[in-house]
Amino acid sequence: MTKEAQNERDDMLVDDPEPQDEQIDDIPDEFNPNYLKVYYGRLFPHADMFKWLSYGNDGKHPACDQSYIGRREFSFTLDNDIYLRFQSFNCASELENGIKDKCPFKIDIGPVYSVDPSKRLAYAQSGDNIFTPVERELVFDIDISDYDDARYCCSGADVCLDCWPLMTIAIKVIDTSLRDDFGFNNILWVYSGRRGVHCWVCDGKARRLNNEQRGAIADYFRVYKGNTNSKSKVSLVGSALHPFLVRSYSDVLRDFFEKKLLCSQQLLSDERYEKILEMIPDESITSELRGKWQDNRRSSSGKDVNVVRWEQLKQLLQSGKQKATGIRRCVEEIVFSFTYPRLDMEVSKHMNHLLKAPFCIHPKTGRVCVPIDPDVCDEFDPTNVPTLSKLLREINTVGLQVEGDKVWERTSMGKSIRYFRGSFLQPLMKSCKEEIEESYSAKVQQSKNSLTW
Ligand SMILES: [Zn+2]
Repeated sequence: MTKEAQNERDDMLVDDPEPQDEQIDDIPDEFNPNYLKVYYGRLFPHADMFKWLSYGNDGKHPACDQSYIGRREFSFTLDNDIYLRFQSFNCASELENGIKDKCPFKIDIGPVYSVDPSKRLAYAQSGDNIFTPVERELVFDIDISDYDDARYCCSGADVCLDCWPLMTIAIKVIDTSLRDDFGFNNILWVYSGRRGVHCWVCDGKARRLNNEQRGAIADYFRVYKGNTNSKSKVSLVGSALHPFLVRSYSDVLRDFFEKKLLCSQQLLSDERYEKILEMIPDESITSELRGKWQDNRRSSSGKDVNVVRWEQLKQLLQSGKQKATGIRRCVEEIVFSFTYPRLDMEVSKHMNHLLKAPFCIHPKTGRVCVPIDPDVCDEFDPTNVPTLSKLLREINTVGLQVEGDKVWERTSMGKSIRYFRGSFLQPLMKSCKEEIEESYSAKVQQSKNSLTW
């Protein structure tokens, strides 16, 4: 075994969510190509994925674009990091057979191109330079590893139930804005399998955005300046906050910071308060607070020391004497610095960025990339999502009694697939049908009009 493979193996053992089960079962709890074969064979929702990515074009309606799904790029990552880019599939069974046959460690979904991506070279040779992305879901990628200066419990790819809520509030803030500010409806949130979440905005008007428009939307969400030189990572400019930021702050971020993060990460404990004091641009205030906190290490009221200190800080910064807006705004900047969603902007800005497909298995954790319902995202627990080995055990228990493709219903995948179908796919299909219908009648009307000329 190579050193790298050994490391990965160690990772998996460390991450093993249910080590006690090892003694009961003889299936070792790790990522294994043979398990993956069973997973793709009996649990992976091939038909639902195909239905989703066809966006209604797999129907019989005369306005359906039969070439649509065949122009979508799929990318497979095989064992030993072998990448198969520009895979394409023309029908549901081709997609299913392709996945079962190659048994990819990871499936990425790319854009819909102007022509079948697997034939791009032929098009290039013919001199017609027409191979270009024409549609792509608007996507967002948020990783907990980008929050290392906002958490003390974990770092890097590690995540625990103390820091995961940073992801939960990112979902709340972005999801609300996508719906209320941009009017998008068909939004899918997915656990990335280890350290973050992905968001797929699937409305027709989102899929047809060009790169420039995607950039504008990404910029709309940008307040965090990932610049290590500035003390405060957030700069809230202007005399009044943008309504979106005001709403995010008062509906989600402030409460989360004061009621959860402050205490769970001990942000104002003795070793840590300097980092927050550095964000205050007024030295008389910082030295006053530092004086109080150095002399009074224990809180006499019995309240959590972090809560007491936060109240003191707010009182000083927001009291009547602090006329300068910069100082008053500072409380908000601290809250935003620690809690505001940190998006990987590059993923959102470009149509041809690949993003891992839902229901993949993360090769390091063995966890399924399950959808997350934004309405109950507080309940989502990344340490408790189905793993490949858990599913294998469940299949072994129920598999023999259940015929064909109904196995998933009786495994811990059931809830996720039901959510995907009922809350995401069904409403999406309804709006796709309406859209196809509309574009068809517009075309018919147009040709009628041209006839009357
Ligand atoms: Zn943590």
